[in-house]
Amino acid sequence: MENTALIEAATTYGSPLYIYDANQMKANYKQFTEAFNVEALKVHYACKALNNQAILKLFKSLGTGLDCVSVQEVQLGLRAGFSAENILFTPNNISTEEYEQSIALGVNINVDNLYTLEYFGMNHPDIPIYIRINPHLMAGGNQNISVGHIDSKFGISIHQVPNIERIVRKLNINVMGIHVHTGSDILDADVFIKAAELVFSVVERFDTVTHIDFGSGFKVAYKPEDLHTNIGVFGKKFSKAFNDFCERQGKTYTLEFEPGKYLVSNAGYFVAKANLIKQTTSCTFVGLNTGFNHLIRPMFYNAYHHIENLSNPTGEKKVYNVVGYVCETDSFASDRIIPEVRKGDLLVFKNTGAYCATMASNYNSRLRPAEVMLLDGKNYLIKRRETLEDLLRTQLETEINY
Ligand SMILES: *Cc1c(COP(=O)(O)O)cnc(C)c1O
Repeated sequence: MENTALIEAATTYGSPLYIYDANQMKANYKQFTEAFNVEALKVHYACKALNNQAILKLFKSLGTGLDCVSVQEVQLGLRAGFSAENILFTPNNISTEEYEQSIALGVNINVDNLYTLEYFGMNHPDIPIYIRINPHLMAGGNQNISVGHIDSKFGISIHQVPNIERIVRKLNINVMGIHVHTGSDILDADVFIKAAELVFSVVERFDTVTHIDFGSGFKVAYKPEDLHTNIGVFGKKFSKAFNDFCERQGKTYTLEFEPGKYLVSNAGYFVAKANLIKQTTSCTFVGLNTGFNHLIRPMFYNAYHHIENLSNPTGEKKVYNVVGYVCETDSFASDRIIPEVRKGDLLVFKNTGAYCATMASNYNSRLRPAEVMLLDGKNYLIKRRETLEDLLRTQLETEINY
């Protein structure tokens, strides 16, 4: 992305501003799908990462399905034009009413507890379902599979598979898919494949299964030196393991993944303006016209987002603490080296496509930013900046005698 395109968008629509590069998302999707060599591959875009209708429509145009975690996300997906059969609903701890709502909408439902499994068997034995298994594995950064997530609230424990089997057989439940998503980083294909073998051993027990969904965990690099999932290497090795399993079973399964971050993170740019440079006795603060209300990942996850000075890219490098305007400790970066920042300069946070705009709030009664999509050199406003009226819209002028 050219800096001039970012400056132009921020000049047109003001700041703070989220800007999404549609061509980068398309390239990410292409790279992802081309990495796998299997008979049937299906990608469900995990829309909690970034849920603007324009983004959903972009992914629909590419042919993805949608991974949704609330009935509201399901409704947004349907609104964007996804067909119900291309939506997989993977909720946790939802009410029976929310299951009923999603059943009425006709989407595929991923069951993640035994109680709900029985509920489906008793009340909707005709509806095919997915079952989310918790393999208690984290295929994490080191070379071993470490046993973790024993306290995880997600999925049905792999140790309870006999219990699942009993319920499924008794109530004649049609299990169409087995699903796992541990959320841990995929860095080593061999480690992930070892975990997949466990999943295959569950699939073998249910002959109605046609879909195997491995969720996500594709890691993207935030810092220049960060490791990221090498999708080409992973896809090649994983496809072989998957095809071997299909061959062993004498059956073709659809391989499914649900990337969110991988598809949108590096396509997002968050542009904010320096309101003030404040020299204290200990450091130099850059105070921005935004805060953790718009970009919470640094405070919430201690996430690193690379920052560049769009207005003075060749300025003399200096050390800054970059902070926001929220009346709380609101730090984006400490001791960060950035070309000299002057009052009014535009800074950009990289890798802000995933879990940034969707996590924004109105804390401090601040208005949420506008969002812009860039496609083939043109920019399109896909969300206007909020107004004071938006803050008041749900409040009622109820007559109360104080
Ligand atoms: C959040 C989520 C994803 C996407 O995870 P990323 O790290 O953004 O790729 C996929 N599947 C499920 C069930 C999720 O909850």
